[in-house]
Amino acid sequence: MNVQASAATKLDEVRAHIARSAAAFHRPVSSVVLIAVSKTFEASAIEPVLAAGHRDFGENRVQEAQRKWPDLVSTFPDVRLHLIGPLQSNKARDAVRLFYAIHSLDRESLAEHLAQEMAKSGRAPLLFVQVNTGTEPQKSGVAPPDAALFVRRCREVHGLIIHGLMCIPPEAQAPAPHFAMLRQIGRDCELPFLSMGMSADYETAVKLGATHVRVGSAIFGHRHTASSI
Ligand SMILES: *Cc1c(COP(=O)(O)O)cnc(C)c1O
Repeated sequence: MNVQASAATKLDEVRAHIARSAAAFHRPVSSVVLIAVSKTFEASAIEPVLAAGHRDFGENRVQEAQRKWPDLVSTFPDVRLHLIGPLQSNKARDAVRLFYAIHSLDRESLAEHLAQEMAKSGRAPLLFVQVNTGTEPQKSGVAPPDAALFVRRCREVHGLIIHGLMCIPPEAQAPAPHFAMLRQIGRDCELPFLSMGMSADYETAVKLGATHVRVGSAIFGHRHTASSI
């Protein structure tokens, strides 16, 4: 027997866990989008997951996504790519072209660049504001007390539609209070989507209202390449 379960099998397991958590909290399973985080994995590892019918994928670097995805997208044109890593303003154009959703909007200069590129291209990726719920100096995201004002400025100054919030809780802490904080900010700002939960904690995130969970290693296995988050 193959001791290493295939990515497609693990995808089914993750889906089943999401369905169980959603049901336990009286949420329709369709209210949770599973983003399979394929960063550092090559096309050969991604293809079986595409073949299994999965279409939402997460990448954390624009350049890596540009290298890997155009060929795959030509075979599977209905793929939805989610940018989950930090975005430099000078990559805003490429990001708007390639991604269905951007989960890392965290500063006004980026809001301004995205608004310009969206107007030029006529494309409108879903936008999530990243909130640094743990106020960690090394992590991107707006500080929690600044989040509501930032969302308002994105809307009023830059004319952007903001769809949701995203967070990455500190590694050494229980994630639930961070997810609850993100949910509260989302309610205050009347945002429909919450991007929260990774391999270790996506079930907790679903219980606390996640609409988008970002799951990498639980589907694709251990990442051998160093990758910042
Ligand atoms: C890598 C990454 C993930 C997935 O992490 P896993 O623990 O492998 O599920 C989720 N979100 C972000 C922002 C990431 O960079």
